[in-house]
Amino acid sequence: MTIVTPPVRDIRLAASVDRSIRLISTGKATGSTCAPELADGPWEFDRGPVAYGPGASQGDVIPTGAPRQGALPEAYRTATNDELHARIRAAKATLGDRVVILGHFYQRDEVVQHADFVGDSFQLANAALTKPDAEAIVFCGVHFMAETADLLSRPEQAVILPNLAAGCSMADMADESSVEECWEQLATVYGDLDTPGADGRVPVIPVTYMNSSAALKGFVGRHGGIVCTSSNARTVLEQAFERGQRVLFFPDQHLGRNTAKAMGVPLEQMPMWNPRRPLGGSSAEQLEDARVILWHGFCSVHKRFTVEQIERARAEHPGVQVIVHPECPMPVVDAADAAGSTDFIVKAIAAAPAGTTFAIGTEINLVQRLAAENPQHEIFCLDPVVCPCSTMYRIHPGYLAWVLEELVEGRVVNRIQVADEVAAPARLALERMLAAKPQGSAPERFGGSAAPAATSTSPATATPEPRA
Ligand code: SF4
Repeated sequence: MTIVTPPVRDIRLAASVDRSIRLISTGKATGSTCAPELADGPWEFDRGPVAYGPGASQGDVIPTGAPRQGALPEAYRTATNDELHARIRAAKATLGDRVVILGHFYQRDEVVQHADFVGDSFQLANAALTKPDAEAIVFCGVHFMAETADLLSRPEQAVILPNLAAGCSMADMADESSVEECWEQLATVYGDLDTPGADGRVPVIPVTYMNSSAALKGFVGRHGGIVCTSSNARTVLEQAFERGQRVLFFPDQHLGRNTAKAMGVPLEQMPMWNPRRPLGGSSAEQLEDARVILWHGFCSVHKRFTVEQIERARAEHPGVQVIVHPECPMPVVDAADAAGSTDFIVKAIAAAPAGTTFAIGTEINLVQRLAAENPQHEIFCLDPVVCPCSTMYRIHPGYLAWVLEELVEGRVVNRIQVADEVAAPARLALERMLAAKPQGSAPERFGGSAAPAATSTSPATATPEPRA
């Protein structure tokens, strides 16, 4: 089992991102943030026009019909953090085993300190399975993660997302209707997409990253496709190529490109699918020749990392180990010493000899937490600007206190439920992922100029152990 359990400690001792932002915005610390409004409560943005809010995704286009969060009661908006922490602890104590709180790696420390489990989205959905008697699963992450937890939990368990505005801009870049439209256009090039060719393989297998809506997972399940995580993307692609001549990969072009490149797929056989252009912007000949069709999606957090940042880190910290997430652009992954999922990064740091310097290219809440928990190393974020994931940041202790106190009163608010007709094929796509077995190759080797500090061999079902 993967252990991703930072010790419980007083949050004021940690160099939390919230604290850094407040100090920078009040001039008490040097440094810069990508949005000074991050220091305000997220409810300021819930009341305004629909937006992802300040942070890395603030420039992304939010889709029409994105979930809105109703006004948070004033008592939670005006309470101090100390008051909110006390209310959360009291509600949690009252609820006992009736509730389990899940905290994503990228969630702010002020929320994560109350989590029973901390991990990546799929680890957390699996962690909830270890608490079958919990009536409520409070997922401190983003919308697609709560949907996945709902898919895997028992029907009578309520999955709660403390702030409904916590979506994911990357997941939103591939909506169901655009992907359906793409599928129809691909049929005009390849013919019947369900009929195997002379080699016994169908023309195209859809593969969706875990970071996608349940509707997309359902689409993939209906069309013989598979879900993947950043840990097992290579294994899943290998399995997809056994049954299909090519893969349609969405929503993250970078994870798709980095994975396929590491498998030896030439870049010229990875055309991009831009949903706003006929045939995605490629010719029929290019699509005929394609091995992996990459959806035009990206994570605005990981898009911030650059080769120049790596060069600067190496110049200022000789011997630094640079590890980045595979959602980063290909040149960044190629220039790094290693690339891998959040689980890979956590393990690489744990396995390194004391005194190692790490520059990490992933969301800053995780990087600063790893730095606080591993004082034997020097760990810093590759991006010098404090710029957290906009949507993770929509979860504030005020929302956590609100949903827990509502549960104490017997009321379930902000429940995320996947419709049955979507859930069945979505679970099928997840089951295909669990059945996919690596073909002997390292599951997490991307680009990089040197051997990684550690390799991850954790199965896709790795579950974080409960926190002490
Ligand atoms: S870090 Fe990127 S992929 Fe993850 S929730 Fe935020 S926007 Fe989505």
